Amino acid sequence: MKKALSFVLCFVLLLSLTVPAFAKTAETGSFGAYEHVIILGVDGAGRFFNEVDTPNFDRIFKNGAVDHTARTEMITVSAQNWGSILGGVSYLRHGLTNSVAESKERSSSVKYPTIFKYAREAFPEAELAAFANWSAITVGIVENDLNVKKVQISDDELLTDAICEYFNAGNAPKLFFGHFDSVDHEGHRHGSKAPEYLSQIAIVDGYIGRIYDTLAENGLLENSLFIVVSDHGQTISGGHGGLTMRETNTVVAATGKTVIPGGSFDKNTRNRDVSAIALYALGIERPDYMSSRIPANLFADTAGEKRNVKYDLVDTILSGISWIITLCTAWI
Ligand SMILES: [Zn+2]
Repeated sequence: MKKALSFVLCFVLLLSLTVPAFAKTAETGSFGAYEHVIILGVDGAGRFFNEVDTPNFDRIFKNGAVDHTARTEMITVSAQNWGSILGGVSYLRHGLTNSVAESKERSSSVKYPTIFKYAREAFPEAELAAFANWSAITVGIVENDLNVKKVQISDDELLTDAICEYFNAGNAPKLFFGHFDSVDHEGHRHGSKAPEYLSQIAIVDGYIGRIYDTLAENGLLENSLFIVVSDHGQTISGGHGGLTMRETNTVVAATGKTVIPGGSFDKNTRNRDVSAIALYALGIERPDYMSSRIPANLFADTAGEKRNVKYDLVDTILSGISWIITLCTAWI
């Protein structure tokens, strides 16, 4: 009898200690706080959302965190950056180039896979999806052996229709990546000061708004972390690949229930940090090798992390040198 009583007392004591602890985590923690992470990538938009009237971006991120001057990879080319944004390592590690990504089907057995691999491992039955304008995303960046639903349509408006249809059909992916390419096309043709380029950003702003509203209509917003990110900007004359500020500054924006309203990330934010942010939101431990991090001034409950430079030391050194070059081109 005495033994039984002490067992019950122990159980009650244990319960009183653990229940508040769990309740606190559930209320305030960002790690694993989200059912869905929705990432929309705008190829070639760089920092220029900030120079256009974008009513949808503004209303979506009114209570979110926005940084228009996050940094890209040193080589401001698309595959190098999308590979890092989705892979959490520098381009020196993942080794993706446009020609490789366009032509070579990627499998998850590569050394530095995308976050889709970790999402698949954590959630074997979950819906995962990538809808892209550029075929390199669906062929050579997001892996082909992870049962990720992939759709490739070379027209941003039709792509938006397909994305909205997908959500309206009741799909609720854990991880979703959408990729627009029309802004980059206008940037190549006209350069980053041209009205054609800037007005294309406004058009894509409308597509982002449509997708956001579709998520809301389908009850997905409440438990989603919604992110907009770009891979690189454009020079004044059009094109990219170099180190000018116009090419290496880029937008990263996030909104969700644990994001600081009016947050601004921190000065060390890079577009590759989207990998860390997405894994964290879904409650997936980040692999040690990643040099992607949770920036400060993003989640209400997390201070900024230090970047793990150990595994990307060469990139760290070259990034430092390239930043000096970038600063010298700030006025271009
Ligand atoms: Zn690009």
